[in-house]
Amino acid sequence: MKDSPYFEIRLESLGGLGANLCGKMLGELGVKYLGLNGAVFSSYGSEKRGSPVSSFIRWCDGEQEILINSPIREPDILGIFQESILKKYPWPDIRKMPGKMVINTRMSGEELEKNYPWLSGTVYFIDGISIGMQTKSRINMIMLGTMFKALEDEELLRGQNILEIGQKMVEETVGKKYPDLLEVNRDGLMAGYAMAGKRVLKSEHQAIPTESHEKWLWGYANAPIGGVNPLAGSMASNDLSASRNGYMPLFDETKCIHCGLCDTTCPDMVFQFKKGTYKGKEQMVNRGLDYHYCKGCLRCVTICPVNALVVGKEAEHPSPEWFTPDKDLVALNIHWTEKAADGYITGESYLTEGREEAGVK
Ligand code: SF4
Ligand code: SF4
Repeated sequence: MKDSPYFEIRLESLGGLGANLCGKMLGELGVKYLGLNGAVFSSYGSEKRGSPVSSFIRWCDGEQEILINSPIREPDILGIFQESILKKYPWPDIRKMPGKMVINTRMSGEELEKNYPWLSGTVYFIDGISIGMQTKSRINMIMLGTMFKALEDEELLRGQNILEIGQKMVEETVGKKYPDLLEVNRDGLMAGYAMAGKRVLKSEHQAIPTESHEKWLWGYANAPIGGVNPLAGSMASNDLSASRNGYMPLFDETKCIHCGLCDTTCPDMVFQFKKGTYKGKEQMVNRGLDYHYCKGCLRCVTICPVNALVVGKEAEHPSPEWFTPDKDLVALNIHWTEKAADGYITGESYLTEGREEAGVK
C-alpha cells in the first residue's frame, strides 16, 4: 500500500526531451481541465542536453489540499522518456515499482519483458523516435499521448474523456503561443495515444531489488578495442539519441571548403577545427564533429554552402542498443570502424586528438 494519499506521476528523462514541459502540461490538465487539485515541479541540474531531469506531478480531488512538495518516490505512473534510463536502474530514490509505466522505446512489450525481467505492473510502450520522425513532433508530446492512454482507466478521472480534454488543452496552450506548431503537436499527441502498446507483465508488483547495474559497465573483458566509445553522439552510459529526434548531421570532408560557417552557426561548438592545410595553404581546417555535444538542430546542414553536411538517420549509426551484455562483442569491436548504411562513419574515436597524433585517421 503506498503511503501517499495523492495520485502521483513521476517522469524520468534527459535534458532536451521536454519532460519538464510535459510535467507542466499534466499539472495544468489536472487543475484547469479535470477539476482536480495539483502540484508540479521538476528537478534538473545544469539544464544541459543529456543531464538527468525528473518531473513530479501530484493530483488529488478538488476538495482535498496537497500538503507536501517533496519528490515522488512511489509513483502511480512512472514515465521513462528514453529506454536507456532503465539501464541506470536501480534508481536510488524510487522505493517500489509503480503499477504502470510509460516507456519510450523501440522494443516490443515482449522484448521489454525479456530484457528487463525486473519490470512489473503494466507497461505502455511507444516508439517515440520513429513517430517523431514521421510526424515531426517532439517526444514530449508523443509521451503525453501515451500518458493519456495509461490514465484513461484511472478512478480519479471518473470516466472523463482524457484524450478529448487533453486535445483541448493542447489547442489552447500550444495553439495560443505557437499556432504554426499546433498541427504537428496534435499529430504527435494523437499518435502517442493511438500507437501505444500495452503489456501486463507477468512478474508481481515488487519492491525494487538492490542488485546493482554493474553488468552494464564496460571493463577489460568487454570494452571495444582501445577503450574507444563507438556510440555516435552518446556516452557509454547515456543514450542521447532521442534528443536529436532521430536525425544527425553527417560530414563529407572531401567536399568541405573549410569556410567555418558551420562552426559559427552551431550553438554547441560541435565542430573540430585544427591547424592544417587546404589547397596548399596553412589554415584552420574542419576535422568533423564531436557528436557528444550535437543536439541535432541541423542548422549546420542548412548553412553549409557546398553540401559537405547532410542529414542522416541516427538509427543507421552505432547505437547503445547494441551494447547489451548478450551481444557478440567481437562483432561489436569490428562494427564501429565500418561505414553505416549511408556510407558515413560517425564513431567518435576517429576524431580524437590522440588518434590523430598517432597518425590514425
Ligand atoms: S560550412 Fe560546410 S564547407 Fe564550410 S566548413 Fe562547415 S562543412 Fe565545411
Ligand atoms: S546539428 Fe549541427 S548546428 Fe546543430 S548542434 Fe549539431 S552540429 Fe551543431
